[in-house]
Amino acid sequence: MSTEQSFFQAVLSHVDHAARHLTLEPGLLEQIRVCNAVYRMRFPVEFDDGRIHVMEAYRAEHSYHRVPVKGGIRYAPDVNQDEVMALAALMTYKCALVGVPFGGGKGGVRIDPRAHSVRELERVTRRYAAELMRKNFLGPSVDVPAPDYGTGEREMAWIADTYRALREGELNADGCVTGKPLTMMGIAGRREATGLGVFFGIRESVNDAELMKELGLPTGIAGKRFVVQGLGNVGYYAAEALCGAGATLVGVAEIEGAIANPKGIDFDALIEYRKQKGTVLGFPGSEALAAPAAALELDCDILVPAALQDAITEANADRIRARIVGEGANGPVTPVADARLRDRGVLILPDIYLNAGGVTVSYFEWLKNLQHVSFERMTKRWSEQMNEHFCDTLERMTREKLTLDERRVLVHGPSERELVHSALENTMIYAFGALRQFAKARELPDLRTAAFAIAIQKVARCYEMSGIFP
Ligand code: NAD
Repeated sequence: MSTEQSFFQAVLSHVDHAARHLTLEPGLLEQIRVCNAVYRMRFPVEFDDGRIHVMEAYRAEHSYHRVPVKGGIRYAPDVNQDEVMALAALMTYKCALVGVPFGGGKGGVRIDPRAHSVRELERVTRRYAAELMRKNFLGPSVDVPAPDYGTGEREMAWIADTYRALREGELNADGCVTGKPLTMMGIAGRREATGLGVFFGIRESVNDAELMKELGLPTGIAGKRFVVQGLGNVGYYAAEALCGAGATLVGVAEIEGAIANPKGIDFDALIEYRKQKGTVLGFPGSEALAAPAAALELDCDILVPAALQDAITEANADRIRARIVGEGANGPVTPVADARLRDRGVLILPDIYLNAGGVTVSYFEWLKNLQHVSFERMTKRWSEQMNEHFCDTLERMTREKLTLDERRVLVHGPSERELVHSALENTMIYAFGALRQFAKARELPDLRTAAFAIAIQKVARCYEMSGIFP
């Protein structure tokens, strides 16, 4: 019989495990554990065949220790209340860990987006947004969604447009949702933010000599063999960045099947192949695996599950051969599997740290929306002028002329994307340092426990300072 828990129970077990290493008043811990509000809605939508379908959807707001709450919207056929509560809770801890001043939220619509036309998806999304507004579950100062599994810029654009239409004249309306297209006051760098953050987090850990010594691996990304599950928003950009830094992609799992090639898979060629053929199967030089999940068990250094929760459970944990599991997805490793992997010395980079890049850049987008101006607009020209002065002074002092290329590199003022990438990188580096330091100082057994402990402590401090808990 399975000993696995529900997703929300699994998050609670991580929280309880970490809380044992802290001293917290029980009532305060209980307030941190529970989900503050869940809105379950049913609404009718007319589909293209003229029939009315009753949709089931949710929005969970896990913690009001900071507002607005923030978290994605998932479109999947098995969305349910337990799942959105778990995902909202993870958002609370993720935001606290990386210093993003939001509570956690998450929404979901029970729908398979692949089975619907664009017009149907638009009607569902706009009605969902309107339903959220009816109960004050959407707005720049209350609850700010973003993309998650099954949604992207297009859905965020519909939500922003619906909000604007129903809140005529609201000054900060653009900040009601993040992950919007650039033309609708989105921010450059949001699309790749989560995957790029996953890359930065993995890079930090493989550059940690002590950690690599424990795993018996050399330091550095270059030459490491990795497998990715899911080539969606998170998996695609994580894999692209890992390949760009010299790692070798040896296995890919997608919904239609999985492939392997121990000699390496050309990532760009695979993406082009899948675009044309609609599948990863049959990619030249690769071997097709029996089932998508078989890719998780391939021999590799780093496994990046970037699809859905419960990818690694008690059923397959003992067959995982990777030395590092980088949780691109939320909750891909169940608590039972987590314990089994750790017993075998596998390093797990926990979701609340590793995939925090998305919410980090969403925070920047929200700030841009409230400021009504991009960061680049305020800094670029001034930086370039100062850099010109610097180059002139350098040439005068050294009596040497810079080459045109040298001058171009030194003078260049940062674009919005460059600012976003560097702030994202800084966040991931800083959070990793804090995690390692905390784990060492408290002699914690693993990075997940350290991540939850840091996050719980920060949320607790926030409640304590508010005076609710003396
Ligand atoms: P997505 O919809 O863009 O992509 C998910 C991909 O996984 C799809 O291509 C899908 O076909 C594939 N997939 C589904 N089931 C699979 C299976 N069994 N095996 C192999 N592939 C499978 O979703 P996403 O936004 O990349 O989100 C993926 C995960 O990352 C989710 O757990 C999500 O909560 C988490 N996450 C997303 C973001 C974000 O910014 N999008 C941020 C943080 C965390």
